[in-house]
Amino acid sequence: MNIKKFIYKYILKRKYYRTGQCNRCGDCCSKIYVYHKKGIIKSEDEFLSLKNLHPFYTYLEITDKDENGLVFKCSKFDKENHICTIHKLRPGICRRYPSEILLKMHGVMSEKCGYKFIPIDSFKDVLNKLNKTKKYQKNNLDE
Ligand code: SF4
Ligand code: SF4
Repeated sequence: MNIKKFIYKYILKRKYYRTGQCNRCGDCCSKIYVYHKKGIIKSEDEFLSLKNLHPFYTYLEITDKDENGLVFKCSKFDKENHICTIHKLRPGICRRYPSEILLKMHGVMSEKCGYKFIPIDSFKDVLNKLNKTKKYQKNNLDE
């Protein structure tokens, strides 16, 4: 196992490598779902109760509602120039975007996003591990 894989898998506890880069499509700033403890925010009342929790929520404006919940856009996004107007002061969640936690929370990334997530364990690795477990279980039963 190489050192990069070891650090990602066992120290950072990641399941994916993130590759690619931001192409400034702006989708993550203009089609936002807000995920809180119980899941994706679905009503304006739920959202209002969050507004005092973090300044980021005060930047958000409701634009739509779909089968997942409310859809927001960030008022700090400059649509003309495709830039964040508070880039240096943007919240941590924006700095880290897209992170693996997003996938764990069943988040969906825009198809336009320049980043991709690649599993650290390849299909072959998973298959080998499965075969080893089966062999181990069989040996235990045969004994
Ligand atoms: S603060 Fe900036 S980076 Fe974060 S969602 Fe708003 S425009 Fe995008
Ligand atoms: S969706 Fe991806 S490529 Fe588009 S602005 Fe956000 S991080 Fe950048």
